[in-house]
Amino acid sequence: MPLPAYAGDTPAHPYASRDTALELGFQQCIEQFRTALLTAPLGWLFVAWLAWGRISQPLLLNWLIPFVLAWTVSLIILARLTHRHITVARDARLLYLAAVLDGLAWGSSLLLLSMDEHLYLELIVVLCAITALMGPTFISHIRAYRFHSVAIYAMVCISCAYHRDYAYVEALPLLTGMALFMLLIHAHTQRASARVLYGLQLQIENAQLTDQLRERLRAARHDATTDPLTGLANRRVLDSALATWQNRVVHSARQLSVLMVDIDHFKQVNDTYGHEVGDRVLRAFAEHVRSLLRSQDLFARHGGEEFVILLPDTPVEAATNAGDRIRASLENMPLINNPPVRITVSIGVAQHRDSESIDTTMARADAAAYSAKHLGRNKVHLAP
Ligand code: GH3
Ligand code: MG
Ligand code: MG
Repeated sequence: MPLPAYAGDTPAHPYASRDTALELGFQQCIEQFRTALLTAPLGWLFVAWLAWGRISQPLLLNWLIPFVLAWTVSLIILARLTHRHITVARDARLLYLAAVLDGLAWGSSLLLLSMDEHLYLELIVVLCAITALMGPTFISHIRAYRFHSVAIYAMVCISCAYHRDYAYVEALPLLTGMALFMLLIHAHTQRASARVLYGLQLQIENAQLTDQLRERLRAARHDATTDPLTGLANRRVLDSALATWQNRVVHSARQLSVLMVDIDHFKQVNDTYGHEVGDRVLRAFAEHVRSLLRSQDLFARHGGEEFVILLPDTPVEAATNAGDRIRASLENMPLINNPPVRITVSIGVAQHRDSESIDTTMARADAAAYSAKHLGRNKVHLAP
């Protein structure tokens, strides 16, 4: 059944979402048919009540026994379907079989129970009502509805032929009227079904768009806060952390130390091995130093081959020790092996003082790193 064209933003794969909607509609149809079948005994009771006293009880049993058998087989088919992953391509025939069995069972009431004129007409009305009631059940997979209705109608035709000698009602007007009624009901249901499937398609596309947006938002957040080369926090995160810490330190008298780390003679690494090797060294440096820090420390790329480490709740002596551990670990090992590149760092250390702004602390750490360079590099220097 063709669906209306998609009207909103063009999704990545409009046909994929339409196919998914058809599959989802099929699954919902099986579920609804199962629920409808579970309420079918109420319908039998109604028919039995109509027929009670007007036909013999063996005849009533003659109808009920095949009906219960067909009903049981249909329920077993649907129960089996709901216990596995259902697809239209593989399972549609089973649903149609269950629909035909149910339609035949209802239609057979006319064949077996219609022993008087009034009951015959009442049963025709019941069958029309059953056809109308099953419309919502099959709304998300209209083909099954067609099978169900055709099965009922076939049984009505057979019973007309079977009962022609009794001539309760003229067959031709009856069959024509019922066919018109069924066609009308089907035309209405088909339009409603197209809307239901279109709604499912929109739901699926909305869910896909939401997923895409969530993923893009996550990527944008990551890009906005991460240095692309090293994966460390970027300058933006550093600045906002400094602003936050300024407030915390002032109000809570907590100790914050800053390490300003600058790689020594990094230009020579680029000049000797090329920029690509320089990049690999920067990545290896970031990974190595990160492994030496605590989870609460903030390690950020300040720019180029300069890095900042914020050490919360750390007095300056501990911060100096941490800086020296980093310095010593680098001095003793090549950061990358192919080609083997060893680097050293100069580190400036400063502790934030209550009387100064955090920018002043950073400037003191920067000046201390500068002094470390002048003292011969591969040094940790404490800001005065
Ligand atoms: P110093 O010991 O005085 O710090 O010397 P230096 O060579 O490390 O300092 P300088 O400021 O003269 O040079 C920094 C070098 O870092 C120059 C620049 O090409 C390199 N650099 C900065 N960012 C990157 C990067 O992202 N990748 C690579 N491969 N090199 C970078
Ligand atoms: Mg440098
Ligand atoms: Mg530098």
